[in-house]
Amino acid sequence: MDDPVRLTRRTVLAGAAATVAVASLTRETSAASGTRAPSANAVSTAGPFVLPALPYPANALEPQISSRTLGFHHGKHHKAYVDNANALVAGTPLAAKAPEEIVRLAARGEGPADLFDNAAQAWNHSFYWRSMKPKGGGEPTGALLELVQRDFGSTDDLRKQLVQAGASQFGSGWAWLVFDDGKLKVTKTPNAETPLTGAATPLLTVDVWEHAYYLDYQNRRKDYLQAWVERVVDWEFARANLPAAAKGGGK
Ligand code: ZN
Repeated sequence: MDDPVRLTRRTVLAGAAATVAVASLTRETSAASGTRAPSANAVSTAGPFVLPALPYPANALEPQISSRTLGFHHGKHHKAYVDNANALVAGTPLAAKAPEEIVRLAARGEGPADLFDNAAQAWNHSFYWRSMKPKGGGEPTGALLELVQRDFGSTDDLRKQLVQAGASQFGSGWAWLVFDDGKLKVTKTPNAETPLTGAATPLLTVDVWEHAYYLDYQNRRKDYLQAWVERVVDWEFARANLPAAAKGGGK
């Protein structure tokens, strides 16, 4: 997009064309100052990737996650990944595929070089919003509780492992609860990496990029993770994601 200041200078120099150019500048300026997040690819919002509405109001996770954090995270960071991913597949055969498949194909080198990062981040964030809920936390139920007790000992041990995985992820990334090879496991991935590209089934995730917590916790990532596993995590979402064969629990 043209820089408005440069456009203004050009407009002045343009003489006779100035009136028309100013009219167009005015439109651009009012669009840019609106509530929509600025994006390099704001024109391309249609495509396989969708920015989902948050499953709860932006202030519903307070005080653990502020509406300011959630607003920026969803409306700017996630939106940019969605817009970029859609722009990168537009006009290619990848545009007809499902997001999960695009992530897997991009991980194997299909598409432009930056497709994987944007596509995986678009998918990971949609999964993250649903891994949380207002008044979350507590204990898992049903088959998930049985598997947690079998594979971790207790929910408290699972919480500790999730906090430890997220806190020890060097730099940006994600901590995950996955179902892998017949067992629940806690894993972590750097940057945009996601279990989608491997054999494990992702059950839930917590975002440990600084943009997920810095406004609320600054450098205290561990405090964010602790609050997350105690008050925000949605175990029901994880339980719903168990593969059919695991839904009988640990019996
Ligand atoms: Zn994020």
